[in-house]
Amino acid sequence: MIIQLDPNIAAADKEAIVGNVKSLGYKATEVKTQEKLYIIGIGKKDFDIRLLGQMKGIEDIHRVSDDYKLVSRKWKVERTHIDLGDQVIIGNGSLSLMAGPCSIEDEGQVQQTIDHLVKHGIRIMRGGVFKPRSSPYAFRGLGIDGLKMWYTLARKAGIKIITEVMQVSQIAEMYDYVDVFQVGARNTQNFNLLDELGKVDKAIMIKRGISGTIEELLYSAEYVFAAGNEKLMLCERGIRTYEKASRNTMDLNAIPILKEKTHLPVIADPSHGIGIREYVDPIALAAVIAGADGVIYETHQKPEEAASDGQQTLDFEESARLIDKLKKVYALRESF
Ligand code: PEP
Ligand code: MN
Repeated sequence: MIIQLDPNIAAADKEAIVGNVKSLGYKATEVKTQEKLYIIGIGKKDFDIRLLGQMKGIEDIHRVSDDYKLVSRKWKVERTHIDLGDQVIIGNGSLSLMAGPCSIEDEGQVQQTIDHLVKHGIRIMRGGVFKPRSSPYAFRGLGIDGLKMWYTLARKAGIKIITEVMQVSQIAEMYDYVDVFQVGARNTQNFNLLDELGKVDKAIMIKRGISGTIEELLYSAEYVFAAGNEKLMLCERGIRTYEKASRNTMDLNAIPILKEKTHLPVIADPSHGIGIREYVDPIALAAVIAGADGVIYETHQKPEEAASDGQQTLDFEESARLIDKLKKVYALRESF
């Protein structure tokens, strides 16, 4: 059960509610986010919800049978909007596009990417400065200095930044230079990291684990929400299957399923989802038809020279064509 409290509730009224929840045999957990104050009741016993609903200080009360609660759409039917400022809003019914290189490499690359995004009206740039690489000898990112350089150039152009945070100790140093913290597929179940991201007032995008189920992704989001951060979105980026013809298997099924199960925005990553440049477009377009709130993809001025993931990265001409197609397919979806 989710009990939404009056944010100005008196301490004694809150105690009385918690006491009542416990007396029903439920475990009560208080959750305070940047938006609201909740009591989450975990238990199985049946009871008359009106007995609680009438108590002083309760704004709303819902039964949620799912094991994840706060991210469930059974509780909140309106969709979550994430406002990044400067009219950049994710999940408000528009199609959010985020593009940029796999890795941030140097000033020239960042400026060329920014110019490309600005030309095509994309407001959010992706890029990694802390890179999770399978081999320790591969390029592992420019680190915090690269992020600062990127931030300086991006801010001048009104571009927002989404970038991966790999560990708890990076959150504080990255905080001022990031608009959206990305939790990568290898960290989806790093519960310490999720807990800490719950304590910051910044948007978070959680990618689906490489072998993670949809339910596990929702639980990961629940960790962040329950720790206090509701500015959350989810990303389908392909999963590992027995198929070897593509890097990953983009699970398009996950998009309508997630849209049904959660009120959080759902973003598709076709670049990692299929991992082959030539096929990024059809998967991106299919994800939009499937209901994605946004698409995040990799682009680079010279993909063949990219420090990472060049094989799945679009050049700027390909990116421009994809943007055009995405807009058309999005308009088609909205006309259904
Ligand atoms: C990335 O976005 O470059 C990345 C490493 O993604 P993932 O965590 O999905 O592999
Ligand atoms: Mn990549």
